[in-house]
Amino acid sequence: MIFICFSATAQTGFIKSDWKNQLATEKLFNNLIDDERFKIHLKELTKKPHVAGSKFNDDVIDYIVKTMNSAGLDVKKYPYDIYMSKAPGESYLEIVEPKRKPLSMKEDVLEEDPYSSDKDLWKGWNAYSGSGVVTAEVIYANFARKEDFEKLQDLGIDISGKIVIARYGGNFRGYKAKFAEAAGAAGLIIYTDPIDSGYFKGLAYPEGPYYSESTIQRGSLLTEDFTGDPLTPYEPALPLDYKIKIKRKKPEDAQLHSIPVVPVGYGAAKEILGQMNGDVVPEGWQGGLPFTYRLQGGSALKVFLEVNQPREFVRVHNVIGTVKGSVYPDEWVILGCHLDAWGFGATDPSSGTAMLLSLSETLGKLVLEGKGPKRSILIGHWDAEEHGVIGSTEWVEQMRDELKAKAVAYMNFDGAVSGKQFGASSSPSLKELVLESAKEVDYPYSEMSLYDNWKGNKETPLIGNLGGGSDHIGFYMHVGIPSMSGGAGGTTVYHSNYDSFRYYERFVDPEFQMGETIEKFAGIMSLRLANATLIPYDLNRYPNDLKQHFGKAEEKVRKLKPDFKGFEKTRLAIDYLSNAANTATKNLLNRLNDISLTSSEIRFLNRQLIALEKSFIDQKGMYYGDWFKSIYASSDPFSGYASWILPGIEYELAIKRMKKLKEWDNRYAKAITDLAQKMSKMSKKY
Ligand SMILES: [Zn+2]
Repeated sequence: MIFICFSATAQTGFIKSDWKNQLATEKLFNNLIDDERFKIHLKELTKKPHVAGSKFNDDVIDYIVKTMNSAGLDVKKYPYDIYMSKAPGESYLEIVEPKRKPLSMKEDVLEEDPYSSDKDLWKGWNAYSGSGVVTAEVIYANFARKEDFEKLQDLGIDISGKIVIARYGGNFRGYKAKFAEAAGAAGLIIYTDPIDSGYFKGLAYPEGPYYSESTIQRGSLLTEDFTGDPLTPYEPALPLDYKIKIKRKKPEDAQLHSIPVVPVGYGAAKEILGQMNGDVVPEGWQGGLPFTYRLQGGSALKVFLEVNQPREFVRVHNVIGTVKGSVYPDEWVILGCHLDAWGFGATDPSSGTAMLLSLSETLGKLVLEGKGPKRSILIGHWDAEEHGVIGSTEWVEQMRDELKAKAVAYMNFDGAVSGKQFGASSSPSLKELVLESAKEVDYPYSEMSLYDNWKGNKETPLIGNLGGGSDHIGFYMHVGIPSMSGGAGGTTVYHSNYDSFRYYERFVDPEFQMGETIEKFAGIMSLRLANATLIPYDLNRYPNDLKQHFGKAEEKVRKLKPDFKGFEKTRLAIDYLSNAANTATKNLLNRLNDISLTSSEIRFLNRQLIALEKSFIDQKGMYYGDWFKSIYASSDPFSGYASWILPGIEYELAIKRMKKLKEWDNRYAKAITDLAQKMSKMSKKY
């Protein structure tokens, strides 16, 4: 028990006498929150649809700048010129044979929802679609995953020149286009099946919160072996008219899709799927529409698809507000959420933006009370996330060296107030702090804490490992900054024109209590990171999590190679790390209680702490893309969204290549030994 006690106290990173002040500061922070602000910001941010590069998105940017300025933050805009599709362009979809029927490509206007008739709403589209015109037969490809196309091939179904129709889900939509194109398809239609969101789940909008027949999921198709602007891997896409010239790839050399792709609702999909007459689908491929799904449309059914979607250089802007640290201004605690949306973006992303704007106001007031943070707190609003996590990635590439030296943590709050159920994922060293911070926050709709709401019936909350899909990618997987992503979620009309303030008010959080709740969580976690004498990372979590992950990895390898001896060098390195983490944790606690702890020693220890996660940054990077530098975590390169822990090994497993496992044992052992040595260095008296 004594050990647990040690660990918990050192984890907080505070000198005993400072801890009382911290609790008082947190209490003051909570009291300074104006609970009206979240709703005011949300309404203002979601007045108009605000796609990256649009006029209305510029208005959102102006509002963010103005709000953070008035809150007293130091505000800076970071412009970039991104090669992307700015708007849907022209697109048509219709059945031409046996009977002509144009299909709906936009959400219905609803009497109950005045937002739905906004004349600046666009039709459904997939950014980075190819352009082209095709009239062809159709093939149903389930989720259009790698394994789905393999199945079609096994069944001897010819896809070349056909239009593939596939449902959303199972992978990142860009891979649907990639695999369809690779299989020879001439076009792709992606729809939301009612079994995944729609009447199968519950009442559809406007009666209920689920997708209706005309609700369309928009989204980017960008799939590269790096993240960010397609023409500038590793480099920031600084404006074309800047003095500093960035070397850009030629657009024709970028890995962009060429087939036309459109998304539709299940109303339109039903018209096509319902007229197909080929073979019955394999098990697991049937969706929720009221007929048996078939693989081929047959020669009597012809569909016309046209997309003309130009790509061009588009100016986008990140906005960053800084509350300068009073003691350690060069150590940065960073929070962020993107600002661009596919439509009004009430849940995604603006609920996160509104929360961060209110947080910046509360922090501003805290500074006026003389209780500003000791480290700097940076609040980032990223542009063009929806087109492929672009704004944040360009900023990380621009600030790479500074971030490596200064960033303590990155906390992502993409659409962070999209419902009433809390959840979070994190890198190992921040997990304990995430849990502890959630314990400090009251959950508004019962007597429990946010932690209890999160935990549900389990003994402890399920804290996930961080995957892909949002703005933490660059920070965590390219530079090695400990990161977390969290917030409250629920049912939403994801990426559709119905994600409006009206929908939010009706179905997400009619009482508007969750904005303040998540702000408290984000505020407490940031203030602990910013004020602790020693950065409150949980060092013991590294060996504990690594042990688990390597156990699982060895099991997976043995399924393919039963005589596999295991990652022997890595196992030894993890044992060494366990000891080092244990000793360092005790030592840091002792140092905190030692009145002779000097300020230069504090700086030294914190520099060492910031350097820890960089042990996982490997210059050679991943075999599926060397921009991905972290050998600890990555997004899954075959699906885009899922989290890959130990991605070096996961990739070898995915491609069934056993000969490189030895190399990975060496690379992991080296990284883990390096991490252990850094911890041991902290244990020596400075
Ligand atoms: Zn988002």
